[in-house]
Amino acid sequence: MACSAWLHSSSLSHTLLPVLCRQTTISTIFLRFNRLSSAARFFSSIGRTNALVLAQAKRRDGSLLLKEDLVASPADLHFEPPLKIVEYPDPILRARNKRIVTFDDNLKKLVDEMFDVMYKTDGIGLSAPQVGMNVQLMVFNPVGECGEGEEIVLINPRVNKYSKKKVLFNEGCLSFPGICADVQRPESVKIDARDINGTRFSFNLSGLPARVFQHEFDHLEGILFFDRMTEEVLDSIRIQLQALEKKYEDKTGFPSPERVEAHRRRKAAVGFGKS
Ligand SMILES: [Zn+2]
Repeated sequence: MACSAWLHSSSLSHTLLPVLCRQTTISTIFLRFNRLSSAARFFSSIGRTNALVLAQAKRRDGSLLLKEDLVASPADLHFEPPLKIVEYPDPILRARNKRIVTFDDNLKKLVDEMFDVMYKTDGIGLSAPQVGMNVQLMVFNPVGECGEGEEIVLINPRVNKYSKKKVLFNEGCLSFPGICADVQRPESVKIDARDINGTRFSFNLSGLPARVFQHEFDHLEGILFFDRMTEEVLDSIRIQLQALEKKYEDKTGFPSPERVEAHRRRKAAVGFGKS
């Protein structure tokens, strides 16, 4: 997530909830103290195996309902630095993101690389699909400066509760360079997630951290910030979105996989409370 209005504000660090600020809660966050060595190339030889976990739930009539839960394989988590930002309308941004079950040095290296990209591009939040990794991982630091604020890593996040109160905020997105527009979102959320070590935790977020979290969480659901804009706001950035679509076509030689011209607000995108 990016927007110049959010950067360099001295008040930002104070908007973080205590649970995310205190080092006494270190198990809930990953503080980036040390750079990790560039090891872990061993995943490259492992084939891509789409591991499926079948979760069972009972229907009302008592029969079993099988629900697919895609789990990331080592190949899904393999990457070659430096990571690059994936821009709209690349279909990677709409692809399904897999749950992470392996918490190892490779994952720490990926997190480290994501923070590097985020800072270099003046971002305050970044999701894994935005760097071409379709896995359920996000990083953010609402201060947006390396060495300042807190670096937060959330893996396999879920939203348990949204506040009824919603607020407007001018958002930017690293996958939409130069575009900022108003998006309405709940003011606070109650979430649970795993940290970099795989430890499960839950907490409440409000203010800017809640805003950044929801923007990045949307990425993990394949939802982009303009999906949540009113038609009026969308009209104000339509030309810029079309320019990105043309840029994609010129670069790849393929037609844009989606067009804002034909955009209709998707039901899934306007309904909060689904996680
Ligand atoms: Zn974004």
